[in-house]
Amino acid sequence: MIVLITGAAGFLGSHLCEKLLKEGHQVIGMDNFITGNPNNLAHLASNPGFSFIRHDVANFIFVPVKVDAVMHFASPASPNPASPYGYTNLPIQTMKAGALGTHNTLGVAKACNARYLLASTSEIYGDPLEHPQRETYWGHVDPIGVRSVYDEAKRFAEALTMAYHRYHGIDTRIVRIFNTYGPRMRLDDGRVVPNFLQQALKHQPLTVYGDGSQTRSFCYVDDLIDGIYRLLLSDEHNPVNIGNPVETTILEFAETINQITKNPAGMVIKPDMQLGDDPKRRQPDITRARTILDWQPITPLKAGIQKTIPYFKSELGIA
Ligand code: NAD
Ligand code: UDP
Repeated sequence: MIVLITGAAGFLGSHLCEKLLKEGHQVIGMDNFITGNPNNLAHLASNPGFSFIRHDVANFIFVPVKVDAVMHFASPASPNPASPYGYTNLPIQTMKAGALGTHNTLGVAKACNARYLLASTSEIYGDPLEHPQRETYWGHVDPIGVRSVYDEAKRFAEALTMAYHRYHGIDTRIVRIFNTYGPRMRLDDGRVVPNFLQQALKHQPLTVYGDGSQTRSFCYVDDLIDGIYRLLLSDEHNPVNIGNPVETTILEFAETINQITKNPAGMVIKPDMQLGDDPKRRQPDITRARTILDWQPITPLKAGIQKTIPYFKSELGIA
């Protein structure tokens, strides 16, 4: 296949480009670098199967060849208001990537009669009242909360994707991605894994927001990419959760990071940065992925963190 991947210079996009190339496909990467980094793709520059177009997906997309698949991953993805790369500081760009970017990428899929995969998110469940979250849950989202620029754009993107499927017959897929971590996460985008890992490696206290009782379920990037690739090859049109169902509180997660890195500095409690909009519990029900894709994550949290540390050490210049 010839595959267009938007958000290619980001954390997940760059791993996806690698996977598709490894599986023998040709990849056209697209990105405007608003939160991504060209260095994430530098190692692919000499690969004959890879080409790159610098472009903002909010504008009409011209692709010079007929593509067989479109994977729309372009969007800021960190909620942290303390980071210039957090979507709360890029609100209009985030809504445009999720709304106009989804419209334009669906347009490419329609023009090329290509299959389409939307990167959606666990955030469409908001601060969930159902636990764990199944794909049938409609969510609990504040439409004007600080996270709404991301949540509502992704909900619109899902609705538009289903509309193109139902009314234009486009062969679409929707992956609802839960918290994923690994090499190439942006160190300064404020998400919990890069924050905690760099604090720990510098022997600083880990910044726990709120009271730390909120939970997340962390998936190692290779597991996630494998699940997404299986979804691309499947013919499932309904949304599929991909993530690791092992749930941990942020306090327990901080303890785990300090233990693995032997950080003596402990942790410090900070106020809730998100004005009460920080989801309190998050855990995917992955029955659908297990059943339809024969997929489940295989990397335990501690092993995944160990695999991630060399990247952070190298970025921080720590031997
Ligand atoms: P990232 O910030 O590392 O990557 C996003 C990429 O999209 C960046 O390279 C950025 O420059 C690019 N981009 C943003 N707006 C663009 C635009 N208008 N035009 C072109 N490029 C644009 O984030 P990520 O973690 O790799 O997330 C990738 C996708 O996966 C996003 O759609 C995100 O919503 C989704 N997702 C990620 C997670 C996760 O845990 N990493 C969880 C849920 C959903
Ligand atoms: N968090 C934290 N300290 C940090 C960064 C994040 O305690 O330095 C918390 C954040 O409030 C949230 C969780 O960690 O409850 C996960 O945050 P992240 O930004 O990684 O993504 P989210 O899952 O909220 O989208």
